[in-house]
Amino acid sequence: MRTLDDLDVDGRRVLVRVDFNVPLKDGRVADDTRIRAALPTLNELRERGAALILVSHLGRPKDREPELSMKPVGERLCELLGAPVKQASGVVGDVVTHMAHELSPGELLLLENVRYEPGETQNDPTLVAGLAALADVYVNDAFGAAHRAHASTEGVAHRLPHAAGRLLEREVTTLNGILEDPAKPLVAVVGGAKVTDKVAVIDRFLEVADAILIGGAMCFPFFEAQGHEVGDSLCEEEGIEPARRALEKAAQTGARLELPTDLVLGDRFGADAQRRTLDGVDVPVGWMGLDVGAKTAERYAAEIAGAGTVFWNGPMGAFELEPFAAGTRAVAEAVAQAPGTTVVGGGDSAAALQQFGLADQVTHLSTGGGASLELLEGKRLPGVEALA
Ligand code: ADP
Ligand code: MG
Repeated sequence: MRTLDDLDVDGRRVLVRVDFNVPLKDGRVADDTRIRAALPTLNELRERGAALILVSHLGRPKDREPELSMKPVGERLCELLGAPVKQASGVVGDVVTHMAHELSPGELLLLENVRYEPGETQNDPTLVAGLAALADVYVNDAFGAAHRAHASTEGVAHRLPHAAGRLLEREVTTLNGILEDPAKPLVAVVGGAKVTDKVAVIDRFLEVADAILIGGAMCFPFFEAQGHEVGDSLCEEEGIEPARRALEKAAQTGARLELPTDLVLGDRFGADAQRRTLDGVDVPVGWMGLDVGAKTAERYAAEIAGAGTVFWNGPMGAFELEPFAAGTRAVAEAVAQAPGTTVVGGGDSAAALQQFGLADQVTHLSTGGGASLELLEGKRLPGVEALA
């Protein structure tokens, strides 16, 4: 993979694919984490004398919905950079090309939402050519979109000299490092809603990790496979077979696949639900498991504290509901305090870390949920492959 070290950008126009797919609220950016994450690349390129043309998608527009315009993103970027950001009213075409060619070194132009163009997701050659016409060089810093072969994430890399931005470079290097040369013991903490979302990554970790700690609603298909009662817990039916296979594989590979031994139950999914603890994992009818219990949280925290490398993806319970956040909080705190390398991926796990004020206390907080999982599964990411 080529990096910014391999590119001459002085006096050149650089098309930078960023991941500015941020949440909006009332026409403003509600969480600017992804914009901040791109700043090192943008600042470096400006300091090195490049003019920047920035392109990103935002949400999933069907028909150029004005509420998915990049305008509020440009305003926030301008505040964060302390520099003006010009905004184009389209993605490609004569007007936009003219604006791009007028830029002086250090100036920035933000294009409109690239998914306003249907050709983006189709990796359409006409759109690719239009994007390539804007710049001399292409830099991809959008790790969160690197698992998609779209015009702005993949196609255009074949048309211009190209390199990875600093964020994408760090994401790929850190995540590959977990699989290739982790400080041992390697502990993976996997939670969240569904086994099927994460079974491929569990499968991979069964080959390389010393321990895999399972939490969240994901543990119920495992319990079901073991013959336990799951009561009214959220238990993904299609997850039961994959869970059974993972348990069998663990018995063969010798990786420890750890499940909760106690739970916190609620009588329904809500912050004002009736709550009780269960020393065991057979959930009575009328109750649902909404968090791991205190003993499990303590055991998982000890594993994390003793790890050389920790990868965490997926909350331990319904952490959005305060009465059921303790397990996720305990894991988050253990990860934040762990002496080893700590890497966190996944939108909700990142949100949990942020909620507890611990986001800056991990070695690496991935900006790409889906992309980080696919990379760890061993899949090739088209956006990364194209930067070779
Ligand atoms: P990530 O985005 O970090 O990959 P997921 O999207 O897989 O995580 O899972 C997060 C969701 O799982 C949260 O909305 C959370 O409420 C839910 N969840 C976790 N544990 C439970 C549970 N025991 N019962 C119901 N929902 C749960
Ligand atoms: Mg999620």
